[in-house]
Amino acid sequence: MTDRSTDPTTDLGTDLAAVAAGLDAEDPLAGYRDRFLPADGVVAYLDGNSLGRPLQATAERMERFVRADWGTRLIRGWDEGWVDRPRSLGDRIGAAALGAAPGQVVVADSTTVLLYKLARAAVDHQAAAGRREIVVDTDNFPTDRYVLEGIAAERGAVLRWITSDPASGVTPEQVAAAVGPDTALVLLSHVAYRSGFLADAPAITRTAHDAGALVLWDLSHSVGSVPVRLDAWGADLAVGCGYKYLNGGPGAPAFGYLAARHTTTLRQPITGWFGHRAPFAMGPGHEPAPDVRALLSGTPPVLASVPLECGVELLEQAGIDAVRAKSVRLTGFALDLADTLLAPHGVTVASPRDPDRRGGHVTLRREDLAQVNARLWERGVIPDFRAPDGIRIGLAPLSTSFAEVLAGMTAFAEEVAR
Ligand SMILES: *Cc1c(COP(=O)(O)O)cnc(C)c1O
Repeated sequence: MTDRSTDPTTDLGTDLAAVAAGLDAEDPLAGYRDRFLPADGVVAYLDGNSLGRPLQATAERMERFVRADWGTRLIRGWDEGWVDRPRSLGDRIGAAALGAAPGQVVVADSTTVLLYKLARAAVDHQAAAGRREIVVDTDNFPTDRYVLEGIAAERGAVLRWITSDPASGVTPEQVAAAVGPDTALVLLSHVAYRSGFLADAPAITRTAHDAGALVLWDLSHSVGSVPVRLDAWGADLAVGCGYKYLNGGPGAPAFGYLAARHTTTLRQPITGWFGHRAPFAMGPGHEPAPDVRALLSGTPPVLASVPLECGVELLEQAGIDAVRAKSVRLTGFALDLADTLLAPHGVTVASPRDPDRRGGHVTLRREDLAQVNARLWERGVIPDFRAPDGIRIGLAPLSTSFAEVLAGMTAFAEEVAR
């Protein structure tokens, strides 16, 4: 792209358009993009890591669910599948995205509430063995930190902070230095929400287990984008978000994973009737279900799980390994464009360049990017801004084309060149 004697911007633009077109032509998942509802006025949607786009099938299935399932089956729907939905949909997420055998995943609550339930269960269980420290990193997602601070205050536990570099993430060495005979729980994000750093989950899980700690993985930014192998890692607990790469819609229910070996020993604190051994016996006293249903508390969000089911179905068809392969190409292309178009204007990359350590988004920094982000939104180019100075380019593989990435990054370049 150097040594241009004619108008450099025009040639560069033509070259890049050809590159993007070539990548789209070779993309085996390109056809999936047409399954999403059109978004009028949107030039480039670069925030699929925060809120996935709706599918055409979602609009249809919601309508059908309201008219037929809810409308005509009425209360009978509970016996005809709704009661089992937290587990049946959980098993499908487990198989399609989590590397989890059946019977270990439920769909319920929000990520925050499931985090609380699972972390409290782990902390209470470990307190019996005299372990009272919770290891977490300073750059973890706010809700994760706040929930743990609340649990620590409630249960007399102590937080042990790993100071993580916001441009990278938590390493196995840092975890090894933080855990010990007092550690009850290690709670980390698989993909860091800010930088997109992909943690070495198998190594970190091993390190924590060697110290006798339990591990809770927050998969919010990896599920549906990066393959997860909870059973193979030996993970104890996990949670994740339904509305990001799983396209479940704003406020979609989350999912929780409890390894089968823990289902009768770890006890979550919100002991409602849906986690009871026999909810409809309505007897005295809470007796927890002898399976993963014990993670449930109240009536499950069946209606809100309909869009999530559509998103999971799409992932089942596309396959997580193909999704990851495209994700690596999309983030690699975005980084190339950042180097070519944005670096000359002082924008720096705050995400790992090693694809093995990179999740599904890339973060770019310059001190005035809050204003740049606002101007991009006015142009129909929609990434997101994260304080203090980062724009995240979130690239949902099933709904994003390479041409769209180019359109968005070109607009970004125009705005930082102003
Ligand atoms: C998005 C996200 C959440 C979201 O929690 P909610 O309860 O849905 O608000 C939690 N943790 C991480 C790491 C996230 O990225």
